Amino acid sequence: MAIVALAGNPNSGKTTLFNALTGARQHVGNYPGITVEKKRGTYSKKGLSVEIEDLPGIYSLSAYSAEEVVAREFLTTQSPDGVVNVVDGSNLERNLYLTVQLLEMGLPMCVAINMMDVASSRGMEIDHEALSKLMGIPVVPIVARKGQGIDDLMVKAQGLANSKAVDFHISYGIDLDRALDRMSTIIANDPSLIESSRPRWSALKYLEGDEVIKGSIAKESPKTDGELSSIASELERHLRATLDTYPEAMIADQRYGYIKSILKRGILVYRKDRDAPTLSDKLDRFLTNRFIGPIVMAAVLAGLYQFTFSYSEVPVGWFESFFGWLGGVVEANMADGLLKSMMISGVVDGVGGVMGFVPLIFFMFLGISFLEDTGYLARVAFMLDRVFRYFGLHGSSVMPLIVSGGIAGGCAVPGVMAARTIKSPKERMATILTAPFMNCGAKLPVFALLVGVFFSDNQASMMLLITALSWVGALLAAKLLRSTILRGETTPFVMELPPYRLPTFQGLMIHTWERTWQYIKKAGTVILGISILLWALMTFPELGEKEAERFQQMRDSITAQISPESPELEEKLADIDGQEAQEALRRSYAGRVGTALEKVTSFAGFDWRDNIALVGGFAAKEVVVSTLGTAYSLGEVDPEESSSLAETLATSPDWSPLKALALIVFSMFYAPCFVTVVCIVRETSSWRWGVFSVTFNTLLAYGLAVAVYQGGLFIQRIGG
Ligand code: GDP
Ligand code: MG
Repeated sequence: MAIVALAGNPNSGKTTLFNALTGARQHVGNYPGITVEKKRGTYSKKGLSVEIEDLPGIYSLSAYSAEEVVAREFLTTQSPDGVVNVVDGSNLERNLYLTVQLLEMGLPMCVAINMMDVASSRGMEIDHEALSKLMGIPVVPIVARKGQGIDDLMVKAQGLANSKAVDFHISYGIDLDRALDRMSTIIANDPSLIESSRPRWSALKYLEGDEVIKGSIAKESPKTDGELSSIASELERHLRATLDTYPEAMIADQRYGYIKSILKRGILVYRKDRDAPTLSDKLDRFLTNRFIGPIVMAAVLAGLYQFTFSYSEVPVGWFESFFGWLGGVVEANMADGLLKSMMISGVVDGVGGVMGFVPLIFFMFLGISFLEDTGYLARVAFMLDRVFRYFGLHGSSVMPLIVSGGIAGGCAVPGVMAARTIKSPKERMATILTAPFMNCGAKLPVFALLVGVFFSDNQASMMLLITALSWVGALLAAKLLRSTILRGETTPFVMELPPYRLPTFQGLMIHTWERTWQYIKKAGTVILGISILLWALMTFPELGEKEAERFQQMRDSITAQISPESPELEEKLADIDGQEAQEALRRSYAGRVGTALEKVTSFAGFDWRDNIALVGGFAAKEVVVSTLGTAYSLGEVDPEESSSLAETLATSPDWSPLKALALIVFSMFYAPCFVTVVCIVRETSSWRWGVFSVTFNTLLAYGLAVAVYQGGLFIQRIGG
């Protein structure tokens, strides 16, 4: 009896077909040692009997997952009489990627195009006869769920037993083809290799960097391995130098190119005239072009920031005035005392600072939702994939990083969780550890505040620079991790591009509002709580009696010296009030911590007040803004004339654009917020990675901030 294996992508309908063919005649078990289902059964009808093995679903014939290893092992070592490749006809292009690889293995095979019902309901017409001619193997359309075409399929499958192995080659370009020829000859001529029975396939796998093949060749014949390895690395160098690519990517590109070219030859036709996909294709030719694509991407981001900052400027001003007015109302209507101080410095100036950026957040999210809903964000991921591989990250790392705030305004918590889709543990870990470097929504108010005050003429370009910097930082950190503690393979990745869509106004508003509301809710709850706590830490212990008396004496002596009518008196008194407030703040619990840290942080230009804000920012990054608000409000010289934090920073002699830049850099890279750390610990099931993340990031951030600050000072000094 002929033995035939069913191979195909997950969800292509293998199991449905298997059940339809075998009915009750099947055995279910597990492959030895792993929990991948093993199914075998018999088809018999009209004097025809075929033994059928349902292989686990796979996308590729690499050896990265247990499924792939099992399927490959079965096909190479059990040598079935034939392979029935089950293909989802409604998703032909993607499914054929595996088909090409199976063909390259050389086993006799036929293709079952399943889900023909779905394909035709989508207006797709598949010319299976032409496909069969082009690929040189039988192709049978079926509807597994209804049993249509399956008997015909079995006739073809039975026929495989007597047919020769297929000889299927696609061209991988001059350089690769030449290397492949040389390598397959070497493999074919070494009888000590098991691989010698499948020379071209083994050579191809070798060039793809397949660890299983490389390992087994190295074991069976170290001499041959040496020869192959030198050809492979020569090719690699050559490809990098000439085409700026590497064999694995080239191989994948060519396979897709082959499939595209097959489908374009009238194999796949849309019965109903559908313009949308062709328009998408046209757009993609331009937007994901190797050279134009990245330029367009930079322009789109710059446009997004320009849009965000210019449209939010006026409403942010309204919010600022509103909180100024609110502070005035509290000032005028509450009795002096701790409660009033808490309301003004903790609530209004603290939370108000964060709330003030709601319009900016709204516009930023509106822009991002637009990019996401149109499908452009997927193109960004697509383009970044190439870059990511180089830095040891995976194509599937792009989305987690974008979710974490790759464009601006995400959150590292869902980002870290999204890394679950990455199968390779080391790539996943590298993604988890670098996700917090992205510019999450909580860092936005910090940047917006500082950029607004110190770089007001170039807000959009500064934001673009900040984004670029966070990416460079994340990628370099990934490279560092992947070449030290997380050293290992880079696994390949197949990316699908959804068609472009015109977003609906309602959809955009829903997405934008959901995210904006999250921001408001967090500011009104968590940030409010932390802000009040920090206010308390900055207020207590209050100045001792002795100290208070000293300031009172200063006031008394001024009053005695200067005539009560003179305007100078009021000014002097206010000055003393200010000194007293500063002194009180400095001696508070938080003030002491901030002052103690000054020894270290002064190299980066941060004073004790900034330190309080940054320590507070570990709880949540927005707290950097709210704490600066509280700190400057508590130390305010003249509370009657309460000015916004932005104004205070702009006029303060302690601040400069350079310091702002150092603080931006530090905020960008230092320890992830508490919730993210908890999430990292949970996702990696190890508190060590949480500790690592806090320490590594903070040290990195400190190093960079010091470099920026000292570098800036140095340049200023040379410049005079
Ligand atoms: P496997 O992962 O390859 O084993 O795929 P399954 O056999 O589990 O099928 C995946 C899904 O596709 C199931 O919901 C099936 O009911 C459905 N399915 C399978 N074949 C067909 C078909 O020919 N037409 C339609 N419409 N659905 C199908
Ligand atoms: Mg199945």
